[in-house]
Amino acid sequence: MTETRILVVEDEQPIRDLIAFGLRRAGFDVALAADCKAARVCVADHRPGLMLVDWMLPDMSGLELTRQLRKDPDTRDIPIIMLTARAGEADKVTGLEGGADDYMTKPFSPRELIARIQAVLRRTGALGEHGRIVVAGLTLDQVGHRVLAAGRPVDFGPTEFRLLSFLMTHPERVYSRSQLLNRVWGGDVDVEERTVDVHIRRLRKALEASGCDCLVQTVRGAGYRFSARVE
Ligand code: CA
Repeated sequence: MTETRILVVEDEQPIRDLIAFGLRRAGFDVALAADCKAARVCVADHRPGLMLVDWMLPDMSGLELTRQLRKDPDTRDIPIIMLTARAGEADKVTGLEGGADDYMTKPFSPRELIARIQAVLRRTGALGEHGRIVVAGLTLDQVGHRVLAAGRPVDFGPTEFRLLSFLMTHPERVYSRSQLLNRVWGGDVDVEERTVDVHIRRLRKALEASGCDCLVQTVRGAGYRFSARVE
């Protein structure tokens, strides 16, 4: 297995060095960038397995960088953890809406950082056993590109597969229609929000026979959530 490459985008050198030291010791391959421009060059040169992005950067905010990466089909799947000095709850929501997979407030311990990185990598499939995620009788095989419900293969269109794949790798969290459009459809401006509802319906229909359709939940006035907890 090759080492996961982690790109650290942080303008303060002491913090950057400290993070790099901790990551290398944990066995990660580390790339460093001091601003968003350098980060874009690094991403184009050698796609990272995960990015740590500081919120306050000299040329552009880390949030804006995250939004840009999410718009590009080539980079929208890269897991991103935002690093910030701001501890406010509102900032946390903004960070996640901008497309970050997780969020850490400085100062944090190297151990905590490694644990969060591993959790995000597992969730997004990069560390899953052979790229498989299993939740309540539903198996997502990201390598074989198939889904098993109660042990039987389920027939999906490519959009339903991407949608389920995104939801299963980001469980227990509510996503609005516009967030799903951004993350699953890549922010294509021509797609209407109700398109999401159409594909959610198809997804549930395909899962109905196995009873797994209840895992894809509607949260009224907010959006959709994948959850093994039935309400
Ligand atoms: Ca900074």
